[in-house]
Amino acid sequence: MLLAKADFKIVVFLGAPGAGKGTQAALVAQEMQMLHLSSGDLFRRAVERGDELGLKVKAFMECGALVPDEITTQMVLDRLSQSIDRRGVILDGFPRNLAQAESLDNALAHSAYERADAAIYISVEQEELVRRLSSRWLCRLCQTPYNYRHGDAVPACAKCGGELYQRADDAPQTVMRRLEVYFKDTAPLIEYYKQRGILAEIDGSGDVAGIAARIVKAIGDSK
Ligand code: AMP
Repeated sequence: MLLAKADFKIVVFLGAPGAGKGTQAALVAQEMQMLHLSSGDLFRRAVERGDELGLKVKAFMECGALVPDEITTQMVLDRLSQSIDRRGVILDGFPRNLAQAESLDNALAHSAYERADAAIYISVEQEELVRRLSSRWLCRLCQTPYNYRHGDAVPACAKCGGELYQRADDAPQTVMRRLEVYFKDTAPLIEYYKQRGILAEIDGSGDVAGIAARIVKAIGDSK
């Protein structure tokens, strides 16, 4: 069942690959009792299962391209149309271009949610993004991210003991492709949400907890 609109927020997270969207979305969602809805995680799970969706999206993901809008939008809107027993939703990685943003707006306008309440743009310098992505390791079991440089000894996950791995699309050439796609297709959404008066820009450098606290405040301040 839907909560009253005042108690339920739809929040879009924007930022380049490597800006820390996934890490921050997970932390903030837990703290604010919101659903963390990551399009990239939904796709990765489908690829791991090897189901019909996974087979359709695998090649796009491997080369750092966007999955076609019809597939992505339908997957995210399907999830949003199911009941959400939380205090809101953080959309992490969706929308990724103007067409997706317009589809989302349309769907929300025809639902009890009405519209997105806030767009959080996590900004990080490009040089830092490349550095972070190429040194990113993730736990296979709990997805906790770590940073190790080339040649470092990589231990097991400090939280759960799971094996750490690097995402195939974090390989240097694919990273450059993903950044290109981001600047061409996704960065225009910053202006899109600014014009709607719901954009909050958060500096994504510095300590993880401090960034999360600034995001929680920005969401709390949104109307
Ligand atoms: P992410 O984990 O958000 O970096 O997403 C990993 C990959 O999943 C992207 O490089 C795309 O191939 C695909 N993907 C995730 N979200 C979207 C989206 N909103 N639109 C199109 N493709 C997406």
